[in-house]
Amino acid sequence: MPVEINKENKRKHICLGILAHVDAGKTTLSEALLYESGSIRKLGRVDHRDAFLDTDALERERGITIFSKMAEFSTEEMDVTLLDTPGHADFSTEMERTLRVLDYAVLVISGTDGIQGHTETLWKLLEQYRIPTFLFINKMDRPGTDARSLLLELRHRLHGGCIDFGRPEGDELFYEDAALTDEDVMEDFLLTGRVEDAVIVRLIRERKIFPCYFGSALKLEGIRELLAGLEAYTEEKTYPAEFGARVFKIARDEQGTRLTYLKVTGGVLRVKDLLSNRRPNVRADSIWEEKADQLRVYSGVKFRPVEAAPAGSVVAVTGLSRTAPGEGLGFETAWAGPVLEPVLNYRVELTDGTDPHTALLRLRQLEEEDPQLHIVWNETAREIHVQLMGEVQLEIIQRLIRERFGMEVSFGAGAICYRETIANTVEGVGHFEPLRHYAEVHLLLEPGEPGSGLQFAAACPTDVLDLNWQRLVLTHLEEKPHLGVLTGSPITDMKITLVAGRAHEKHTEGGDFRQATYRAVRQGLMRAESVLL
Ligand code: GDP
Ligand code: MG
Repeated sequence: MPVEINKENKRKHICLGILAHVDAGKTTLSEALLYESGSIRKLGRVDHRDAFLDTDALERERGITIFSKMAEFSTEEMDVTLLDTPGHADFSTEMERTLRVLDYAVLVISGTDGIQGHTETLWKLLEQYRIPTFLFINKMDRPGTDARSLLLELRHRLHGGCIDFGRPEGDELFYEDAALTDEDVMEDFLLTGRVEDAVIVRLIRERKIFPCYFGSALKLEGIRELLAGLEAYTEEKTYPAEFGARVFKIARDEQGTRLTYLKVTGGVLRVKDLLSNRRPNVRADSIWEEKADQLRVYSGVKFRPVEAAPAGSVVAVTGLSRTAPGEGLGFETAWAGPVLEPVLNYRVELTDGTDPHTALLRLRQLEEEDPQLHIVWNETAREIHVQLMGEVQLEIIQRLIRERFGMEVSFGAGAICYRETIANTVEGVGHFEPLRHYAEVHLLLEPGEPGSGLQFAAACPTDVLDLNWQRLVLTHLEEKPHLGVLTGSPITDMKITLVAGRAHEKHTEGGDFRQATYRAVRQGLMRAESVLL
């Protein structure tokens, strides 16, 4: 029987993400939460390769979590959608997309290693996406771990609002710690000697308090306390009545059916609802309209179909072929993009002799699932290039390609692919005037939208510069990648407009404008405030 939405249903629902530095115990903690709440009967073990959430063969083999998985669990008063996010820096775009749909996060920290570099990156991202966060300090069963000094480290390096929530109920020191995070609360505390639960809930939501729980995911210590804390100190968001949704992931099920993972952030999504990207600024020929065939609530590899997904819920939708990760539906607008960008460029070598055209079509399919995987076709060299975030991902992509398409590829040496742009509008002037030569070019350099690339234009009266010369300048602008002045990386996201120029009746030759154009670009870049992307 399909599950009906129940308007009277007062149970709270939260969408919870688990984040950690790799190996801190994220998967083990997720499994422990599912087990303690009764959602799974048998406790899987990462080390035994039977963890419930590490469903992909690749992940089981490597013992790491690559794709964000979804699971559900319930306690007496709340339903939780658990999203196990990839922890390795190489997969951070998928992680960032997932952050956009979380109500709360649990940051797992290894009690044996303390705060690691990546933990701080995660902390900054949680701050940026304003996600209220609980901390679970794991592996406390290991000898030599010390909760007291770990807590001091957390307060010092992450936030002064990290408070030990493992203390007994009614502990005055606990209330004092809580009160210290907010002046008004402190005033009340000085009068009453207490802080109300509702106030703690608010301070957590406002990211002034970060509840800390110490324990061991492997030994199931501290898990009940964490669950009780989540139950007591979280609240459900209120959502608007108008329909909206955020797409955070595109994947395929084992049959190859395309799945659009989204969180409904307003109204209700029902089976057979028409979805569209129609908006005032979307070009008519790129508008699509498709039916949501099935709404699936996944838990590990299994799913149950639902008839409707109310605001706050996360579902995988079938029947949609044109959605993209990061896209907004209904009132939601598209995501501006990740804070972390891909940095390495590799040439794809088709070692089994697949022709480049076929290979390109296949790789584009993977790109669609993760737009962070940039596939670039180099027409002149007839080569496929991929741009991504690191070497671990490379190995995984290689394996994905083999499993998915039976195609063998390898990768050339990686090169860092920075780009530069400018932050302000400038005019660049270039002259080329050795004896019996003359050319002068004035270019306006303006910063463009992120992702807009380079655009060239001419806005110069023909009585100032003949149209033929103008065309020549545009050709010279387009003929090669221009390099920035910060690191010598190619420039992008800029509009370059020819605004003036001068030729000599007798002394100007074709090549002169090439030199003057290059110099004008360079002079403009030197005067502008450059930005490394
Ligand atoms: P993830 O990479 O963050 O998902 O971490 P995993 O859950 O895969 O765990 C990494 C390793 O730490 C595995 O070998 C786990 O068995 C081990 N581990 C996880 N939690 C604990 C714990 O509480 N105590 C101890 N001693 N080991 C743990
Ligand atoms: Mg894991």
